[in-house]
Order: sequence, then C-alpha cells, then structure tokens
Amino acid sequence: MSSSTEVLVIGAGVLGLSTAAELLRRGHGVTVVDPGTVNASAVAAGMIAPAFEALADWRSSDGRLDRGDLFRSARAQWSAFAAAFDLPLHREGAEWRGGDLDNVASQLRWLGFPAERTADAVVTPADWRTEPEAVLTRLRTLPGLTVIRGQVRRLTTDGFRWTATLADGSGLAARAVVLATGAAGSLELPESAARLVTRVHPIRGQIAVTDRHLVERAVRGPAGYVAPCPDGTVIGATMDPDRTDLDPDLERGDALVRACLAQIGITESLPVTWRVGVRGATRDGLPMAGTAGPPGLHLALAPRRNGWLLGPLVARTVVDELEGRAAGPFAAVLDPRRLA
Ligand SMILES: Cc1cc2nc3c(=O)[nH]c(=O)nc-3n(C[C@H](O)[C@H](O)[C@H](O)COP(=O)(O)OP(=O)(O)OC[C@H]3O[C@@H](n4cnc5c(N)ncnc54)[C@H](O)[C@@H]3O)c2cc1C
Repeated sequence: MSSSTEVLVIGAGVLGLSTAAELLRRGHGVTVVDPGTVNASAVAAGMIAPAFEALADWRSSDGRLDRGDLFRSARAQWSAFAAAFDLPLHREGAEWRGGDLDNVASQLRWLGFPAERTADAVVTPADWRTEPEAVLTRLRTLPGLTVIRGQVRRLTTDGFRWTATLADGSGLAARAVVLATGAAGSLELPESAARLVTRVHPIRGQIAVTDRHLVERAVRGPAGYVAPCPDGTVIGATMDPDRTDLDPDLERGDALVRACLAQIGITESLPVTWRVGVRGATRDGLPMAGTAGPPGLHLALAPRRNGWLLGPLVARTVVDELEGRAAGPFAAVLDPRRLA
C-alpha cells in the first residue's frame, strides 16, 4: 500500500521530532516514520548545557575551538520551542565540583558564560535541563502529526517527488524528506547523500539511573555528571567511539558511578539501572543540518553529545532551508556539504 505526505521525516529522535514539530508549527503536512525502539534521545540525560559543553570541547581541543556562540544560540531557542509545544524546561543552572575551580570559572567567563565561584563549586545559570522521555512523547503526539511505525529501507527520487520504501514493502511519497536517522546507516540512498551519511560515526554512551534524588541541579566534574531526572538521578556518561552494542559494561559503569558520586560527597554504593544509547557524530563534532545535495533531501544528523541542546536550532536551520528562506547565522557551519 502507498500513501503520500508533504514532508517525510525519517527518524523520531530529538532531531527528527524537533524538525517535525517546527514544520508543523509553520503549517506543513508532516509524516514521521520510525521503528519505535529506544533511541539515543530517550537514553540521554537531557541537559541543555551550552556552558559546560562549550568548556568540555574547548578543553579537549587545546583551546582551539570556541563553540560558545553556537551553543548559546541553541539554548536561547529552547525558551520559544518549549513554550510553543508545552515542554518541560528547568532553568536551575549547573555547577562544577572537583578541583581546578579558579580555572574553570575563568575559562567559562572567557567563553562568555556567567560563572560564580563559591567555596567548593563553580555555578553557572547558563545550563538548563529538559526531560527527554516526556518531550519525545509530547512531540510524537502533537495534534496534526502523523507517526508511522516502520523502517525505511530505500529512498529514491524521480527528480520531483521522493519515495520511501519501508521494510514491509509499503511506499510513502513526499515532496521533501528530512533524514534524521541518528547513528544508523542502513538505508539505501542516492549516492551524494549516501556519501555524506558515511561521515557519521557512532559513539556509544552508557548512563546510570538511581531512584534516589541526589542533586537539585546538574553537578559536573572531571569524572562525569550527576543530574536530576524525573525518576531520580542520572549519572553519566561514557563515550565509546565506534561501538554500537547496547550491553551495559558493568565494571566500567560501576567505576564511573563511584567517581561521580564521590564528586558530590557520596561514598556508599547505590543500586542503579543502566541505559545505553548510540549517538551519531561527525569528525568536527557538529551536526549536519541542511541539504544533502539532491533537491528536497535534507539532513538532520549527528549532534554527538549535544542533541538535546541543539535540537531546536537544527530544526530551525533545516526548515528555513527547506522553505527557501535566508540561511541563519549557523547554516554554513552546520552545512552537511562541509564533510563531502
Ligand atoms: C548516555 C547519553 C547521554 C546523553 N546526554 C545528553 C544530554 O544530557 N544533553 C544532550 O544535549 N545530549 C545528550 N546526549 C546526546 C543525545 O542523546 C544525542 O545527540 C541525540 O539523542 C541524537 O538524536 P538523533 O535524533 O540524531 O538520533 P536518535 O535519538 O538515535 O534517533 C534516530 C531515530 O532514527 C530511527 N531510524 C534509524 N534508521 C531508520 C530508518 N531506516 N527508518 C526509520 N527510522 C530510522 C532510529 O530508530 C531512531 O529512533 C546523550 C547521549 C547518550 C547516549
């Protein structure tokens, strides 16, 4: 059986659903197709953390990178995005503990973020937080959005329309397509798009959840982070490049949890459950948001460890381009063709 839609979004992670929501808000007809299995977006901590993520990138690159403006702008878009779709947004800030406090405070300020040095921490109001599962559910069920459970196997075009062929043999025709398939690369695509998708590499991440409420805001440090979540507290996270298996690594995980809890002064061991996800990343650590080459095919892919922070910005960039509007200030740095 075949059906048609104006814009087809493939993938219901944070990038696919944010883009679908933005399209819907601007009056487009949208269908999302996704197999409905747990994805990286559902596993994430949900930190919207321009300050500490810009700091992490800056420190790990010997000071050659400054993501401050991009990340600040991404977070700024969250206020309107959350208001438009009635999404949870917690603005309690975040803090750093575990030594090196004067340096951390001055580096955050150098990157353009407010930072206050207290006796045992550096506190910034710049980092916020959302609730991934609640947001995914809310966006998936937006009135007017069609969501189909399925796996797209092949995407073809006759130059005017796109046809997605699903694993069950059914077809979906669309004027435009947004590919938001995360780290998965199993879809047959036109050659120029397929080449860009091969630039996405997987990074596996493992995070622990305890039902104890341990912190009032995200606490970060050299070992990792401890952050509030609706179920209690999340503790994370590992970054394993080029790993795609979803089995928790218990030994490494326990060491991570112990070190992160020590940062907040907890030495007892707590029962935790594990979540594992695989995020897509590019070689420069920034997502692909924009055309894949053939007219009507757009990418919203590979935000590495910042998919939640970057979701609304990626969505806006992709939808502006799809509508033929003037490119936003970050369209060039996010243009997928930079990786061709
Ligand atoms: C442990 C962990 C903690 C994290 N914490 C944070 C955080 O605090 N803040 C933050 O900003 N980011 C965080 N991240 C990163 C963030 O989760 C990712 O950057 C983001 O989820 C990636 O979103 P996505 O939409 O690109 O991919 P995904 O969430 O993986 O979604 C892609 C979707 O596409 C579907 N799909 C794939 N192929 C097909 C196909 N052929 N047909 C149909 N559907 C298909 C998949 O099933 C999936 O549902 C974390 C990640 C991990 C793993």
